[in-house]
Amino acid sequence: MRLVFASNNAHKLEEVRAILGINTEILSLREVAFEEEIDETGETLEENSLLKAQMVWKYLFQQTNKGNALAIDGVFADDTGLEIQALGGKPGVHTARWAADEGFSTQGENQTSGNNRRLALHSLKGEENRNAQFRTVVTYIRANGVMQQVQGIVKGTIATEEKGAGGFGYDPVFIPEGFDKTFAELPAEVKNGISHRARAMKALCECLFSVK
Ligand code: IMP
Repeated sequence: MRLVFASNNAHKLEEVRAILGINTEILSLREVAFEEEIDETGETLEENSLLKAQMVWKYLFQQTNKGNALAIDGVFADDTGLEIQALGGKPGVHTARWAADEGFSTQGENQTSGNNRRLALHSLKGEENRNAQFRTVVTYIRANGVMQQVQGIVKGTIATEEKGAGGFGYDPVFIPEGFDKTFAELPAEVKNGISHRARAMKALCECLFSVK
């Protein structure tokens, strides 16, 4: 099976290739010469992942019409959000740019991930309910246009301070359920075995091999 993943993120590509295994060839956007900007203007994770998958699917369809068929079986795209219970599910679809969108910047540092994490800690100061989850939505569109969406969730809590040097994004403040360490403190293999993305990719795997 030959699929296009709507991403150029090397870390994600590696993770997805490892999960989907050797019988599935995964091509990045670069490998199919897709160079358009994708504006994530959706109001939900579902909308954003659909928007990305559709744009790439249309591009491949146009290539086929121009005689440049790439023999692709389908296209998939993901979108992830951190959903904090006490904040009514925020930052959700705004996870990547949460601090910037809220105009929150600490110590004059202009560092996206650091500010996002400090905003999470700041927003929950004195809050007892620290429940949160990461949710990844994957949209898969087959070559024949049939669309399916699956999701992966990892539940956990927001720590009271940053801990650990591994991972990226919100990892130093997210403690997955069943552990007493943040994602940034846990070995990568442990995180990648239980993460939202891994679970969404496993769900995609089941969907790929179901007949539609
Ligand atoms: P994306 O949809 O995969 O680009 O994820 C959106 C944002 O969610 C990223 O910019 C990160 O801030 C955050 N994020 C996604 N996955 C993770 C993760 O595994 N750990 C920590 N933060 C993450």
